[in-house]
Amino acid sequence: MITLYDTTLRDGTQREGMSLSVEDKLRICARLDDLGVHYIEGGFPGSNPKDIEFFERAKGLALSNAVITAFGSTCRKDTPAADDDGLRTLLDAGTSAVCIFGKAWTVHVTETLQTTLDENVRMVTDSVAHLKAAGRIVFFDAEHFFDGYKADPEYALRVAGSAASAGADAVVLCDTNGGTLPHEVAAIVREVAAALAGVPLGIHAHNDSGCGVANSLVAVDAGCTHVQGTVNGYGERAGNADLVAIIPALVLKMGRECVSRDQLKLLTEVSHFIAETANISPDAHQPFVGVSAFAHKGGVHASAAARYSAAYEHIDPASVGNLARVVVSELAGRASLTMKAEEMGIDLTSDPDTVARVLERIKELEYKGYSFEAADASLDIMLRKAVGQWTPLFELESFRCIMEKREDGRVMTEATIKVHVGGHRFIATAEGNGPVDALDRALRIAIGRFYPALARIELTDFKVRILDEKKGSGAVTRVLIESADGERSWGTIGVSENIIEASWEALVDSVEYGLTRATGDQAG
Ligand SMILES: [Zn+2]
Repeated sequence: MITLYDTTLRDGTQREGMSLSVEDKLRICARLDDLGVHYIEGGFPGSNPKDIEFFERAKGLALSNAVITAFGSTCRKDTPAADDDGLRTLLDAGTSAVCIFGKAWTVHVTETLQTTLDENVRMVTDSVAHLKAAGRIVFFDAEHFFDGYKADPEYALRVAGSAASAGADAVVLCDTNGGTLPHEVAAIVREVAAALAGVPLGIHAHNDSGCGVANSLVAVDAGCTHVQGTVNGYGERAGNADLVAIIPALVLKMGRECVSRDQLKLLTEVSHFIAETANISPDAHQPFVGVSAFAHKGGVHASAAARYSAAYEHIDPASVGNLARVVVSELAGRASLTMKAEEMGIDLTSDPDTVARVLERIKELEYKGYSFEAADASLDIMLRKAVGQWTPLFELESFRCIMEKREDGRVMTEATIKVHVGGHRFIATAEGNGPVDALDRALRIAIGRFYPALARIELTDFKVRILDEKKGSGAVTRVLIESADGERSWGTIGVSENIIEASWEALVDSVEYGLTRATGDQAG
């Protein structure tokens, strides 16, 4: 049994630009609990008002798998654990598990802490014993363990052994600087496991050498039974070990028990949910969960993959809740289109005429400058239109966009939209910081009362590319819009010689696709 310890909410938020509200953190806890994570490190209690509020409100969470854990450090030098303010705050958080870090590298003891090697061991022992006496589950993070072990194995082992003797429930070997390589981690963990027989060991790896996941897996192979990491590998510098890659590797490839097969199927959803919550675009090429992680391009390969997936896929994508998304391009043949349609719930296997017609249409559109690889939602809509399973949610009468640059340098855009919804005609005007923003706002005002779910849909990314001139008709603009509703994200596309028209096309697809999925109206 491998214990999974998530530190997305503490170490993960050290990532530059990443910030989570208390509400975000609580929602993430619920998802990590569904996924089957055993411990969730919530933060440093008492370090700031946000963390204080989090630990207070986390008491009200009904979790079935995970234990919320408070993080802190050992007592200060020359201070008994019982008199230490930091440890008192840690206990005051009221969690049943705590994790404290301490020094395991001599140079950090003498230079950073400016104390003696013996006093550092006293701090570790006294702190762990104090927290155990208070009835807590206690994990000890041995900071800089691998670097410390290389410099002075005897002392690093002495620190780890002291924490274990004082009652730590796991001694976690940290590669704090993230520079250790897998063969070194494997060798050192084996030596530590032999020296501290019977002590539960953990691994906390960072990705500075690109080996965060690899180091975690070799550590398990060498005897660690507790793995710390973050979802999507978020963390400072190059990030932490990515639990999203570690968990399926443990379950599917190493046969190690940690989450159930059913829980594993939530992996893709949880990964994308946390990315969206952190307002970070999910990485399309992320192993296991990226939308392109199982995307095949090219007619021959795609049709072969459809016939015999094991020859082209390292795992069954469904086992981690992902899809064998077939990239539909003009290269792809009938098999990919049929498979893509099946993913969308449209059965085209007995309808070769429609397949031929849609393929012809895709070719035509790609010639004009469309590309559906990042615009699954537009492809979905186009397919549904082709098989007669699509009803537009509103009808456009007209829109108008005015841009004004003023003397003071300010740029203002105003959009007016006239639409028909449910037998009514609506006219709405809105201002925005650009044409897409203004159109989006006006459209929301116009149709929002009919489709309240629109409030949850957000445009998260907007990309514009000017394509090569074709046949002297002037440059063509391609607009890609990424949207999200807090759980999922989707891409849409528009192409036109006019950038506002291209944006409008992508915007309408985005809104209609999002609303259709929210209401389930046209789900096949
Ligand atoms: Zn760390």
